[in-house]
Amino acid sequence: NWRCRSAFKLLEIDDKHKLFTPGQLVIDIGAAPGSWTQVACRRTNAAGSDAKLPKGKVISIDLLPIVRVPGAQIIDCTDFTSLECQDKIIELSAGKKADVILSDMAPNASGIKTFDGRILVSLVSKVLKFSVNQLAVNGTVLVKLWHGAGCDELEQVMDKLFDSVKLVKPQASRDDSREIYYLCQKFKGLENSEDN
Ligand code: SAM
Repeated sequence: NWRCRSAFKLLEIDDKHKLFTPGQLVIDIGAAPGSWTQVACRRTNAAGSDAKLPKGKVISIDLLPIVRVPGAQIIDCTDFTSLECQDKIIELSAGKKADVILSDMAPNASGIKTFDGRILVSLVSKVLKFSVNQLAVNGTVLVKLWHGAGCDELEQVMDKLFDSVKLVKPQASRDDSREIYYLCQKFKGLENSEDN
């Protein structure tokens, strides 16, 4: 009952690296049609299905419409990079910092690989910038990139912000050779990330 096969990538990454626990606040960016949101809701108990466990919360964003997912708060038909969108996420977070920020965003492909890769690097930079302010200390960021120019510079930024940065390539993603995921764990917090 997953909305698309992408679910298997996140399930695989979570099974191996343990991103989710019940009660967490998760922000899912580039979430349509919603299979990562389904996985995040299930694994954080966002719909409160298990009354004995803490209830999580998932906030899902996309340019496209997203059909309701029990437990998720949806900001659809909205560009993540807009100030309005980011303000809305902060409002829905109700004073809480996120435990996990996911980005599976993919720009509309022009077909020119280096160009599309650059656009994705720019989107992911914005996710990292947002995370610096909205991620809890020790929090996790998982982002998709297309291997190529700009990824190394972004990885250097990730290394400054997080204690652990891993490149992950789930089995479920093997058909798309360009696609890579960066799993950043143990956010140092803004004060501890600066160059000094
Ligand atoms: N993880 C999703 C799932 O499992 O259902 C699949 C995500 S799909 C590969 C990529 C999504 O990124 C598309 O739905 C696209 O609309 C969205 N996207 C691209 N640029 C965006 C932006 N600037 N703001 C919000 N969403 C964006």
